Amino acid sequence: MSYDETNIFAHILRGDIPCTKILEDEHCLAFADINPAAPVHVLVIPKGSYIDWSDFAQNATDKEQAAFTRMIHKVAETTGILETGYRVVSNIGQNGHQEVPHLHAHVLGGAPIGPMVSSR
Ligand code: AMP
Repeated sequence: MSYDETNIFAHILRGDIPCTKILEDEHCLAFADINPAAPVHVLVIPKGSYIDWSDFAQNATDKEQAAFTRMIHKVAETTGILETGYRVVSNIGQNGHQEVPHLHAHVLGGAPIGPMVSSR
């Protein structure tokens, strides 16, 4: 599967459509999820064209990978959820229920987030 340049996060990165930016650095962008599932719900994405976590883990540089990890922490710090705790989720592929084929980490907090996965 190749990277789809028309996915919505690629449009956000190109500036074609707006986002509510929380933080940005050379390698990553963090912005508010348009349909928040918690009081704090921020998406962290790499600026490089990576489909999902596995693509990123195999093909991103060490600098890109370090920046992504640190950006998630900085988002928690900036949004004030560091002390109370938060959850980081990345959905991957069909069974992971990934809707947008550009790697993203959901950073969720601001209230108890509930069970890790829905029961069957
Ligand atoms: P996933 O199911 O893990 O691929 O999550 C995709 C997420 O992207 C969902 O939580 C959506 O609410 C969010 N989303 C989709 N379009 C936008 C957008 N234009 N701006 C911000 N978040 C978006």
